[in-house]
Amino acid sequence: MNRFAQTLRDHSLSLLHTQTRVLQINVGKRCNQTCVHCHVNAGPARTEMMTRATMDHILDWLSQTAIEAVDITGGAPELNPHFRYLVEQVKSLHPPRHVMDRCNLTILFEPGQDGLGEFLAQHEVEIVASLPCYGPENVEQQRGIGVFDKSIRALQHLNTLGYGINPRLQMHLVYNPAGAFLPGPQASLEQTYKDELKQHFGVVFNRLYTITNMPVQRFATFLRHQGQWEEYQELLVNAFNPGAVDGLMCHNTLNVGWRGEVYDCDFNQMLNMQWQDESERNGKSLYLWDIDPAQVAGRPVLTGDHCFGCTAGAGSSCGGALI
Ligand code: SF4
Ligand code: SF4
Repeated sequence: MNRFAQTLRDHSLSLLHTQTRVLQINVGKRCNQTCVHCHVNAGPARTEMMTRATMDHILDWLSQTAIEAVDITGGAPELNPHFRYLVEQVKSLHPPRHVMDRCNLTILFEPGQDGLGEFLAQHEVEIVASLPCYGPENVEQQRGIGVFDKSIRALQHLNTLGYGINPRLQMHLVYNPAGAFLPGPQASLEQTYKDELKQHFGVVFNRLYTITNMPVQRFATFLRHQGQWEEYQELLVNAFNPGAVDGLMCHNTLNVGWRGEVYDCDFNQMLNMQWQDESERNGKSLYLWDIDPAQVAGRPVLTGDHCFGCTAGAGSSCGGALI
């Protein structure tokens, strides 16, 4: 039993799936950036990319479920040539489902992305955008030279389309720490972001999500290079907050990889913790179309030491702090 599972047991807690409300689809690992904290190890040289045939398979499955929301992630998900097709198809299901795009902002200025903001607004796609600080230094240290200015220009453009202003066009920002420490309180940081971005750049947005850096993939490599791996892992373990377990996103989310494989979350995906058929010994690896949505509730979530990243301090999820 891993340390996280043991800790849950010590607190008489369990981590089981409930009814699925969100399908998170990772459409590929290519990205125009190579951020230090990236848990995907995404970058321009990655070739993994979901095909249209796989998307159609997923859409067929989704259409037969009551899942309310689709959360599209990557890499930079917009670099998948079928990204707009996927959004349009999800929106044309009966009933249409809510769509979220995990957008790195600079993608708006990449070749071939003309009209991206307008497309997202037209389809009322909720934007969740990374901006790890309201000033350039921390942003460029984590995400690359020139990223801050481009991100601000993207936010200003999205504001002109109504994002952050029209209640149907929600735009949230994501903060993550610049190093091996936990995020500060979400509410006060949100207010600081709002004040600074409005005052200096005229930018408005809806919510700020504070997210803990997960010791997975590129951030794990960074920690090892800095000699901080064990110290950071201990920080997360010692900050375990049992009150965060109820709100963990893996309760009501299914995560799908670029080939349609199923995981409990995007972190488990990057650690190759694909679902297996539990009814067989050496059970076969499962793809979304193997899953009966009615059978998901009650299934145990696969855990590992990285899960302490979601339960440290105020907790952390794709929707920010949990407490
Ligand atoms: S953190 Fe996001 S923007 Fe940065 S490399 Fe990873 S996928 Fe790309
Ligand atoms: S990493 Fe977080 S979201 Fe993923 S299974 Fe562990 S606790 Fe759940």
